[in-house]
Amino acid sequence: MDADAVLAADAEHVWHPYAPVDAKPFGVVSEAQGVRLTFADGRKAIDAMSSWWAAIHGYRHPRLDQAVTDQLDRVAHVMFGGLTHEPAVQLATRLAGMTGLDRVFFSDSGSVSVEVALKMALQFQRGIGHTERTRFVTIEGGYHGDTFGAMSVCDPVGGMHSMFTGVLPQHTFLPRPPGGFDSDISAWTAACEPLLDALNDVAAVICEPILQGAGGMHIYPPAAVRWLADQARSRGWLLILDEIATGFRRLGTSDFAFQIADVAPDILCVGKSLSAGYLSLAATLCSNTVADGIAGSESGVLMHGPTYMANPLACAVAIASLDELERYNPAGTWGSIAGILTWELEPARQLPGVVDVRTIGTIGVIQLDRPVDVAAATNAALDLGVWIRPFRDLIYAMPPYPIGPQDLSTVCEAMVAAARASTGLTPAHAGRTVP
Ligand code: PMP
Repeated sequence: MDADAVLAADAEHVWHPYAPVDAKPFGVVSEAQGVRLTFADGRKAIDAMSSWWAAIHGYRHPRLDQAVTDQLDRVAHVMFGGLTHEPAVQLATRLAGMTGLDRVFFSDSGSVSVEVALKMALQFQRGIGHTERTRFVTIEGGYHGDTFGAMSVCDPVGGMHSMFTGVLPQHTFLPRPPGGFDSDISAWTAACEPLLDALNDVAAVICEPILQGAGGMHIYPPAAVRWLADQARSRGWLLILDEIATGFRRLGTSDFAFQIADVAPDILCVGKSLSAGYLSLAATLCSNTVADGIAGSESGVLMHGPTYMANPLACAVAIASLDELERYNPAGTWGSIAGILTWELEPARQLPGVVDVRTIGTIGVIQLDRPVDVAAATNAALDLGVWIRPFRDLIYAMPPYPIGPQDLSTVCEAMVAAARASTGLTPAHAGRTVP
């Protein structure tokens, strides 16, 4: 099929995410290699999105490709009900070792791993005799996925609650913690505490630790995560951390954000970069205490079982991805990415229409005072050979870890060009100096 035929068939039959039925894609990707996508018309673009934050090692990585093809020679998939296989067992063992949690329940997407986490918490509370504990506490501005349980704990305004009024279960939302890694949280805890004191039916607290991703790229203090963990612990509630976006070193050299915050979750969701952007895989991990509680519930079993659970190809590439994570030189990778993002995005603060520039780990964000003109911003970045996918008022990058300094500079330049284009400043690519 040539590119025009792909686009024509796409227009006729395909529905893209969060899009009207007739939305037109920006390009037809024919191949990808390293940190670059190749479009069918021959253009190339650095993927500053890591394919929605998943492809942490880039594309067609030789060792990851090999892991998939080796596994393909053995078995591509087999049901997990009543059977097991080495890739799943090895991966579960590795994840347990990395997190300090005991049990790993595999699923096929982040949203489903959140559904499983919510179910685990509810079944645990029933199992220990607290059938009244059916509510979740979370913080405003979060994002946990698009299935119904996950949607119900997404931000009630920015999420999709109004579109599904009367259908979503009602949970308790605390105010969003203040922005900034080192901010003072005393006013926030003072506001939250009475809200928590009023509740007696909570199963668990759920949040994205330190970085709220799709809910607004909001960086908040680890101290707030610690406070939530303490509150949950002292009230007999579980702590569910959703590290689908933050896991596997996205926030820096720690494998997980909960290690930066120095808390121990009861339940942990991972996905996205778990399988390095190769195949869909997620997991919900829990402690033996949670597992034992569930064993005491009326069914005694965790009531979930996706068809493609623990897909062997996905588990094999996930193991290879964990091996790969060990190969980086931390200072040269995370140090260099963080340094370049911080240094080269900072001047964007001076641009009219820019209200904030922030970075954490391998994430750089430019926030505007208005919704991004997505077409203008995307095209401005593509003109410079960079693929970005802005949303709301945010232009951001989450590049693959092997991105080199030159390419990362180009990403920063493209983000600034996108900000300029989105706020009506032209020319969009007026060079590296900003504004
Ligand atoms: N939780 C978080 C924190 C996420 O960032 C996402 C995806 N952006 C999800 C859950 C949902 O994951 P998936 O898209 O794989 O269902």
